[in-house]
Amino acid sequence: MVGGRARLHLISQPVSDAAYDLVIIGGNAGGLSMAMSVGRSGSQRVRILEERSAVAFPELVGEHQLDVGYGESVDSIDVDGSDVVVTTSKHVYRTRAVVVAARIAAPSLAPPTKTTSSERVLIGSLPEYPADEDILVIGQTDCAVELTASLAAAGARVVLAGGGMDPTKLSSAAESTVHRLEKERLATLLYRSVPEQITDVDGYPMAFFADRRTPDLQFDHVVFAPARASVSPAAVGLTAAAASSAKVWFLDDAKPDAFPDIGIAPAPSHAERRRGFTSVIEDLRQEHYNATITYFEPTHSDLWVLRVKPDHGDVSHLPGQYASLGLGYWEERIDDAEDEHLDERWDKLIRRSYSISSRMWDEHGYLTGDLSADQLEFYIVLVPPTEANVPGLTPRLACKRPGDRIYLGPKVAGRYTLASVTDPASTLLFFATGTGEAPHNAMVVELLRKGHHGPIVSAVSVRQWADLGYIEKHRRLEARHPNYHYLAMPTREADVPKRYIQDLITAGFLAEQFGIALDPASTQVFLCGNPSMIGLPHGDADGVSGDLKFPEVTGVVELLANLGFTLDHRKIRGNIHVEEYW
Ligand SMILES: Cc1cc2nc3c(=O)[nH]c(=O)nc-3n(C[C@H](O)[C@H](O)[C@H](O)COP(=O)(O)OP(=O)(O)OC[C@H]3O[C@@H](n4cnc5c(N)ncnc54)[C@H](O)[C@@H]3O)c2cc1C
Repeated sequence: MVGGRARLHLISQPVSDAAYDLVIIGGNAGGLSMAMSVGRSGSQRVRILEERSAVAFPELVGEHQLDVGYGESVDSIDVDGSDVVVTTSKHVYRTRAVVVAARIAAPSLAPPTKTTSSERVLIGSLPEYPADEDILVIGQTDCAVELTASLAAAGARVVLAGGGMDPTKLSSAAESTVHRLEKERLATLLYRSVPEQITDVDGYPMAFFADRRTPDLQFDHVVFAPARASVSPAAVGLTAAAASSAKVWFLDDAKPDAFPDIGIAPAPSHAERRRGFTSVIEDLRQEHYNATITYFEPTHSDLWVLRVKPDHGDVSHLPGQYASLGLGYWEERIDDAEDEHLDERWDKLIRRSYSISSRMWDEHGYLTGDLSADQLEFYIVLVPPTEANVPGLTPRLACKRPGDRIYLGPKVAGRYTLASVTDPASTLLFFATGTGEAPHNAMVVELLRKGHHGPIVSAVSVRQWADLGYIEKHRRLEARHPNYHYLAMPTREADVPKRYIQDLITAGFLAEQFGIALDPASTQVFLCGNPSMIGLPHGDADGVSGDLKFPEVTGVVELLANLGFTLDHRKIRGNIHVEEYW
């Protein structure tokens, strides 16, 4: 600290002998956070100037050994040589850089929520005697946390309605204060809720919340946290020379690399910070998830069979249909990939479609009637990140275990069913890649339960033996039902000739092995999984008639079309049924 009388002497010095690395103007959440992060990087020469007699979160001063000048208003910020000179109502400081953190409330005439007028509803100001009062603070920002903390310190019972508060948008000082208020039960935090309406009931404000989980509550006062903006350069007496020196920053514009010499400890990543907010994450899960994972059995580390039980409602579906599963962007990923635009999406759900598979066997050795069960079974593979795509859902699903909560779409859907199978003697061929066998498992079990006696083949192309999560169950089915054949087709195993699904049609394998003729009159084919195995034609209106243009890599549809098979379509029935996974 430098006394006022020394000012002229210091200003005339050409070489920097600044007593401070950084002077921060404003002991609010942003200013304290900046001081804390510079302090963490090792600098002891940081001074906060606060014109009031207390900073926003006083307990942080001792905890982080912050140096604060209280009751100091800033008259001017100028430059002298390589130093910045800050003149306050009490002192003159030479420093290497200045951050102006002070903010003012933007003038706001009306509260943002529908409110019947009452002197008990305030914007930005605090009630005169808050002790023992019930007070609702509404807002998502640092300012809302500052108001909550000072009301709690004054002995009020405070509820903070943060309505979608994103923890990473808070400064680190506000963030740690929120944690403390929660931990010490000094305030109730409603991260996801915000009242729809505030109404005067018997002279006291009553808050009506839109979400069903938050009851309507009455308070002594309601305080809205106002929007705030940086103070103007004139308010801190910023000279033109100081403004163009690149040594004076307003907090909203200050980037960590603005102070290369001082060094600011890197902030924890957004993902890390969000993880710290377990109560926000719990709120989000409660808000969005409506089902529980009851079973999660890895076939191997990247391939899982899982069962999901919805809280309410039924799981009825037709074999072959799909449901949607969802997890929040706030959930952890198993890989290190970074989701694009995570900041905008972090409190949203990622939903994907999944075919409903089948347990196939019940505990007594009967084929399952999954239609009467209270859970749905899925068969899901982890999708790895690539340069072109960062997968959203499966890397998060990979971190889940039985008992964890999940979103299950309220309706199952899909036309990929057995609706067209009306002849129990017909030949049915199910061809899949990888997890594309999921719907076929459900369909095959249904057919065998119903007594279908024509030949049924389920063929699955995978890379390795280990990628066959249901193989044992299929072998049991084959042993009991001679008309059923499961063809496991690993392409990267030394003991098996490399064969693709297309080869089953071109090489006469089905006829040779099982005596099955590919006769369009008595055969239906179901294709599920990788679009390039399926090879749908494109170019014409419905993909069924006219001059079909097939993809360059020959898929199964083209081979079957050459034998007289036709695609099943909403309007024109056919004997090739298709479910593409992407
Ligand atoms: C009707 C329908 C049913 C589906 N059923 C299943 C199912 O039962 N099991 C299942 O694992 N997936 C299934 N999928 C795929 C699933 O919806 C997701 O696309 C997949 O889990 C990837 O999600 P993600 O968010 O991790 O990756 P995304 O960011 O959505 O990545 C999509 C990319 O992942 C790859 N991909 C997607 N699915 C698979 C897969 N199954 N195997 C290998 N690579 C894949 C493709 O390259 C695709 O472009 C189905 C898709 C549809 C449309």
